[in-house]
Amino acid sequence: MGQNRILEPHNDCALYWAITARQGGSPDGATIENQIINFEMGQIKLLYSQRNLEGAGSIVNDMLAFYPGNPQLLQDKATIEQASGGGGGGAPGAARRFLVNHRHVNLLRGGQEAYCQGTLTIGGDGTVSYYCTKTFDPTGRCDRVTFPKGSIKSVKMSGTELHLEVDHQGNWDFFGAGNDISSAYQAITPFAAKH
Ligand SMILES: [Zn+2]
Repeated sequence: MGQNRILEPHNDCALYWAITARQGGSPDGATIENQIINFEMGQIKLLYSQRNLEGAGSIVNDMLAFYPGNPQLLQDKATIEQASGGGGGGAPGAARRFLVNHRHVNLLRGGQEAYCQGTLTIGGDGTVSYYCTKTFDPTGRCDRVTFPKGSIKSVKMSGTELHLEVDHQGNWDFFGAGNDISSAYQAITPFAAKH
């Protein structure tokens, strides 16, 4: 992933330092920041045109971490999710996909929280899977799991959090945009044993 050193780690990457320099009054910082924004916006368009929706979505999410609420990025995110069949669209029976963060609680590190980021897919057949595309966890944890039909014992939603209890695979907490989380909740609920 060529963008890694540009956009992450979030607090030690080229964009972070360019913003810090610009905020400190450096014209060079502002120039570099603009170059990075133009480059990444181009990458998003390129990946999208290549139908690499996960790649494009992952850059959009990284950029949103720097510019939350940016209208262009939010528009790109919605377009990508629509193309992925998530975010409220999609034909009945088709797989629904959502960009989410998965929470890790590292008990060996005093309950420290970390996240990996990826795609939650709810298949029309009741199979639910999560595919990590990027991790923000210092331990490098990046989960790629499939929950077979009927294995989800319980699904709960609380604001932007989706909680799954899965047979033999434990508890999973996913976070995403409010609309995505409620769409994912509605898509999974018919396949869960109780909710
Ligand atoms: Zn994870």
